Amino acid sequence: MLKIAIQKSGRLYEDSVKLLRECGIELNNGNKQLKTTAFNFPLEVYFLRDDDIPQYVYDGVADIGIVGENVLLEKGKDIERVYRLGFGKCRLSIAVPKSGQYDGLSDLQGRKIATSYAVLLRDFLTKNNISAEIHEISGSVEIAPGIGLADAICDIVSSGSTLFTNGLKEVEIVLESEAILAANKKLSEENKSILKKLLLRINAVKTARNNKYIMLNAPNHQLQNIFKLLPGMKSPTVVNLAEEGWSSVQSVVNKNEFWDVIEKLKKFEAEGIIVVPIEKMVM
Ligand code: ATP
Ligand code: ZN
Repeated sequence: MLKIAIQKSGRLYEDSVKLLRECGIELNNGNKQLKTTAFNFPLEVYFLRDDDIPQYVYDGVADIGIVGENVLLEKGKDIERVYRLGFGKCRLSIAVPKSGQYDGLSDLQGRKIATSYAVLLRDFLTKNNISAEIHEISGSVEIAPGIGLADAICDIVSSGSTLFTNGLKEVEIVLESEAILAANKKLSEENKSILKKLLLRINAVKTARNNKYIMLNAPNHQLQNIFKLLPGMKSPTVVNLAEEGWSSVQSVVNKNEFWDVIEKLKKFEAEGIIVVPIEKMVM
């Protein structure tokens, strides 16, 4: 039985549970309890505060965990970073009052910076040869300059709207973060093999999300051009249409290249283009 720690509630909870569900893992009940067991996969789920997850994984109370890279690096526990999950994206940034002038890092020299990320901030300042006073507080960091507690802050930002409403502007990025699947370094052989199965599923879900299935009709004299645009997993599927000289082509296309590819396909006389989402994709 593999034990996974996920956030009990907060910004990573929904996406963590959704990921498990998309991996075909069904949980008995929600996060009302401390732990629950999946009934169709050898997985026990612990619901914890995100700050505690690195320690639990390090101690082996949980074998693996889903946690923001910001928290993982701040806690500095020696655990394995296994997979970048692509959700919970945010930045750890330094912000200063919008009204003030800021011309670069040297403006922070000798200043007071409030943060809940003292370790990451200290590393960043040291790397940049800045000595500033770090004032560690556990929450509501963004109000610190307004109440005269600090000259600047270092905190998590995603859209920047919280900073804006508190009269601050983002001036330096300390870390770009996302949710990470992390693991204890000494897993049993049994748990290693369960983790491998879980990773195969996570990969299938992630790859599927990044790709779309595409079907189209094209005149045969354009097929070579179209194959170059749609290499697919191995090569595209081609089926003759009942109409002489035409074929149907089926392939996969990366979601980021998708519109670009469609425009080019039109130039190569493709018609009746249908694009559908893919649920799972195993390469
Ligand atoms: P807990 O009660 O578990 O301690 P928390 O309040 O510390 O929760 P959340 O605000 O739920 O934590 O954020 C969890 C993680 O989500 C962060 O550590 C970060 O990795 C990520 N995240 C993504 N976007 C944001 C954001 N805009 N603000 C804060 N965290 C974000
Ligand atoms: Zn927390």
